[in-house]
Amino acid sequence: MKNFRVLIASFALIIFCSGCASFKTPQPIDLELDGLSAEHIAQVRDLLKKLEPYIAKKDRKGELPYLTLDELESPLNSRETRLLHAFRDLRAREVGTRIPYRGFSEGKTPLIRLDGQKIRVNGLEKELPPQFLSPAAYEAYQSMMTAMSRDIGKKLYVESAYRSSAHQLYLFIFYLSNHSYSIRETAKWVALPGYSEHGDPRRLAIDFINAEGINGEKDVTTFEVLPEYQWLLKNAGQFGFVLSYPKNAGVGITYEPWHWRYAITSEPCCV
Ligand SMILES: [Zn+2]
Repeated sequence: MKNFRVLIASFALIIFCSGCASFKTPQPIDLELDGLSAEHIAQVRDLLKKLEPYIAKKDRKGELPYLTLDELESPLNSRETRLLHAFRDLRAREVGTRIPYRGFSEGKTPLIRLDGQKIRVNGLEKELPPQFLSPAAYEAYQSMMTAMSRDIGKKLYVESAYRSSAHQLYLFIFYLSNHSYSIRETAKWVALPGYSEHGDPRRLAIDFINAEGINGEKDVTTFEVLPEYQWLLKNAGQFGFVLSYPKNAGVGITYEPWHWRYAITSEPCCV
């Protein structure tokens, strides 16, 4: 009888402890790479609903380049945080892109804020949100635009430059809906956090937009026919800028004529 009681107690302990373990360490979330499940799509939408006001507030204050992962997680519950981490932990190769890991960047290096960029879209003036560049990329951009204005009487504006990796993580999740919630498709257009040249101040990418608001996002040919783009192809190299993703780059990223990288280092990439 005593042995029987010991046996029952042991079973109870085993059941209790395994329950504790699964409560304390929930299973990591497995994301479906070619199209999220209906359950995960619903969770992504809820996550964005919670994060959008937070991101908009940071954007208004000009604090987005310094957004950290801790801050991004701050409005989330534990299930939402696990979902966020599942996206954070994706690796480029598993989603079909062959770009190097640059490290998780949190805006710790000095950045120059670019304010007051005004363009004209369909006749209406529009001011671009503040952008942030490394000092070297900022100088090179200004010199390049002086030369472009002198040569063709036009200039390009900075639509997007430095982004912290937490901001990149948010953007990746945000743009999933444009690509039928396929992680593999989204990764052709938006780099995973830690892989973006927009998060690497030593090899900083700038996305350009012209004075009429043409950025090629909806139709790439609208940007590649611009005289500004033709000028970049001939001259940007003199100022240290490189077209990162030309046609058939062979790295699994779509052709991006607006995306140019300025490298302040000749060290081989990356961490
Ligand atoms: Zn870009």
